Amino acid sequence: TNKPGVDFIRARIIEDNATGRYDGRVHTRFPPEPNGYLHLGHAKSICLNFGVAREFNGLCNLRFDDTNPTKEEQEYVDSIREDVRWLGGDWQDREFYASNYFEKLYAYAEQLITIGKAYVDDLSAEEIREHRGTLTEPGRESPWRNRSVEENLDLFRRMRAGEFADGERVLRAKIDMTSPNLVMRDPTLYRIRHAAHHRTGDTWCIYPMYDYTHCLSDSIEGITHSLCTLEFINNRELYDWVLETLGAYRPQQIEFARLNLTYTVLSKRKLIQLVKEGHVHGWDDPRMPTLCGLRRRGVPPEALREFCSRIGMARADSTVEYSMLEFCVREHLNANAARAMAVLDPIKVVIENYPEGQVEEFTMPYHPEDESYGSRTVPFSRELYIERDDFRMEPPKKYHRLAPGAEVRLRYAYFITCREAILDDAGNVIELRCVYDPESRGGQSPDGRKVKGTIHWVSAPHAIPAEVRLYDQLFAAENPNASPEGQTFLDYINPQSLTVVEGLLEPALATLPVGDKIQFERLGYFCKDKDSTDARPVFNRTTTLRDTWAK
Ligand code: ATP
Ligand code: MG
Ligand code: MG
Repeated sequence: TNKPGVDFIRARIIEDNATGRYDGRVHTRFPPEPNGYLHLGHAKSICLNFGVAREFNGLCNLRFDDTNPTKEEQEYVDSIREDVRWLGGDWQDREFYASNYFEKLYAYAEQLITIGKAYVDDLSAEEIREHRGTLTEPGRESPWRNRSVEENLDLFRRMRAGEFADGERVLRAKIDMTSPNLVMRDPTLYRIRHAAHHRTGDTWCIYPMYDYTHCLSDSIEGITHSLCTLEFINNRELYDWVLETLGAYRPQQIEFARLNLTYTVLSKRKLIQLVKEGHVHGWDDPRMPTLCGLRRRGVPPEALREFCSRIGMARADSTVEYSMLEFCVREHLNANAARAMAVLDPIKVVIENYPEGQVEEFTMPYHPEDESYGSRTVPFSRELYIERDDFRMEPPKKYHRLAPGAEVRLRYAYFITCREAILDDAGNVIELRCVYDPESRGGQSPDGRKVKGTIHWVSAPHAIPAEVRLYDQLFAAENPNASPEGQTFLDYINPQSLTVVEGLLEPALATLPVGDKIQFERLGYFCKDKDSTDARPVFNRTTTLRDTWAK
């Protein structure tokens, strides 16, 4: 039983510190493979590894697990560095690459051969699979299993020297073909791959496997707690076997549950497919669950960290509701985003008793609860735009917004009453003729009459047109990963995940820098997109508001 607030991983570290297992040291690592962009699942691992290091006065390495030359690229390395830093992971000068250990790993492999614990196998990948057996059936030994140390050393050196083609031979650990754990049935340690590596170029044509590389990299770096996801639970035995057999320093592997999220896929393979097949507009498409997509969408790193802390650490897999992420985003932005006004689906309002050509300026706070945000001035004139949804020809009961004959408050400005709605031939409202009460400047009238509804607005001659991108879930199904026969996750793509509208913004928004986050009052939180030009700003809606005032 853990102390409240202490998950099983931290409980283990506390215990290790108490027993002096690692002399009180805590050293973790975040070990991405640079074969794609980081996603929300990685955020959980980043927050865990860097968080644990910070809490226990330890260290956390950033290690690129780059042993698969055909899938890895420098572009991915660069994006990973940027994303980890953005989320708050600080690895200082401890940036490592498994590929930097290739020479050491090779030496360890020769050592395993020398002590009779590894052999070169000539079976094909297919034959090795057949020999492995199943959970209910023991494996069979390869006919090459009992080669002499000399022959194994010679063959392994010739593998390295490039004498054999891809797939012709592998190096395997000599463990136990009858082990109940399939991972322990003579796992492959090295394979031949004549391919250039993004860092080591053509130096190598044999590459070490994940299970062999990971434990040794952890050992070389002096990691204490090697935190990984549950699917590696059977690999732990091999992790320990390699290090024990070589007499190397042994960190401990601890498994935790992967993050799964409703309406989302969290697998680099699937995310690559979305990008390469053009289902989204790139890795940083704001609909993507990638860290760069979330950043572009306007999700603050603080909200992601809060999300990771709320979901906690479990030992069993589960699926987290997407709404939990949105909750964290809203909570952070509510406290930390300035407010301004924009109209996304405009109808024109003409205030008949307001002098033509007159402009007045209202000073409005950028944040109703935080003066430090300061204020801006917002022009008001005879012609305005309001939201189409804030007017009804035939208002339902309790509708407090605008309707023929009804009075409403324009946010921070005046009360207006609708006199007449002008319709086009099809019966659509194209303009509202209104009158204002000059006594109600600032939003109160001296006679104290009640006006329940308050709506947002922009001055028509001053409004700035902007492209506004409204997002919905990228997938229409709660679990897009579970698809029936003959279907894939792609069949669940939501065709309405992006709606582009032409919005009209108050002029103070013209100078907002790209990446800035702002609440458009009553409409949601928005973030200025990198596609913006001076002539045409572009905004992404990060998320809607849960509550809207006076609606
Ligand atoms: P994917 O299946 O998306 O390719 P991966 O686990 O292969 O993910 P890595 O680059 O190897 O990707 O991951 C780096 C670290 O992030 C690993 O320690 C891994 O366990 C962790 N990680 C990856 N996905 C998740 C997830 N969904 N939840 C928690 N941790 C994750
Ligand atoms: Mg991996
Ligand atoms: Mg993977």
